[in-house]
Amino acid sequence: MKPAPFTLHRPSDVAEAAQLLTRFADDEVRILAGGQSLVPMMAFRLARPGHLIDINGLGELAQITQSDGAIEIGALVRHNDIASAEIEGATGALLKKVMPNIAHHPIRARGTICGSLAHADPSSEWCLSAATLDAVLLARSATGKREIAARDWFTGAMSTSLQADELLTGVRLPVLPEGTRFGFQEFSRRKGDFAICAALVVFEIHYGVIEEARIGIGGAEDHPRRIAEGEAVLKGQRPSAELFARAGAAVAAALDPMEDHSTKAAYRRDLACDLVEGALQEAAR
Ligand SMILES: Cc1cc2nc3c(=O)[nH]c(=O)nc-3n(C[C@H](O)[C@H](O)[C@H](O)COP(=O)(O)OP(=O)(O)OC[C@H]3O[C@@H](n4cnc5c(N)ncnc54)[C@H](O)[C@@H]3O)c2cc1C
Repeated sequence: MKPAPFTLHRPSDVAEAAQLLTRFADDEVRILAGGQSLVPMMAFRLARPGHLIDINGLGELAQITQSDGAIEIGALVRHNDIASAEIEGATGALLKKVMPNIAHHPIRARGTICGSLAHADPSSEWCLSAATLDAVLLARSATGKREIAARDWFTGAMSTSLQADELLTGVRLPVLPEGTRFGFQEFSRRKGDFAICAALVVFEIHYGVIEEARIGIGGAEDHPRRIAEGEAVLKGQRPSAELFARAGAAVAAALDPMEDHSTKAAYRRDLACDLVEGALQEAAR
């Protein structure tokens, strides 16, 4: 299949990209980043934008910057860039652990982290990371800038609170202190496929007990989110196999999993339980 006809725009800076979004807002205008989701959708005519705004020439968006305990990843940072990036604290190691689970090398070489966040696939590893770490998404329009907390970003499957005239310019993540424990586990039918379910857990251990526990689940519901019921099980407790099994069960009980032609909701619930338990064990090692 070939895409429907469209006009391609190549802005020379972010301000011009934002102006183009406003100008063509009524003609299903889309940002083109890595093209790894948008181009197949256009080829299948699931998306028929009249105007594409190609941001690949905007070098200002290809940066990772770090200051004041935060890491900002620009909209043109590709999945694979994380492998060689020097990112402070435990956050860098966490991102490097998550990244290879996304698709395959050629897709990771073109696709962008912010493109994943804008596309908002329920199984996206970066969407799960953003939700678990309480990322802040940075939006820009012709009239100003807006910061959106990850919990307000996802509004459903493939749906976000980004407005039609807004560009996602980057995402801000916290610098997790050195020594922060994390574990990531996902299950997909084949390596490189989207996950049927994924779990990301993060915690610190102070004086032998768990503090600052975060448990995020992706792929099970229509968007990734932290599961407070599982986190509450961990808080202030000593790590143990029995505790981790209880946290997994609490997460599973709190979910309202999706069901589709190939995967029953009950299966996703069971997966979430096992993946959380496994990710917690990995983190505690
Ligand atoms: C075979 C295959 C397997 C894959 N497996 C996985 C996987 O396991 N896990 C996973 O997470 N992803 C997977 N992907 C998707 C991949 O990670 C994409 O790179 C990602 O979803 C989109 O990033 P992109 O830069 O290519 O965005 P694009 O395809 O360019 O854009 C995607 C959407 O986001 C919008 N957009 C992009 N950037 C911005 C921005 N800065 N501001 C506003 N809107 C924006 C576009 O307009 C479009 O609607 C897979 C893709 C393929 C083809």
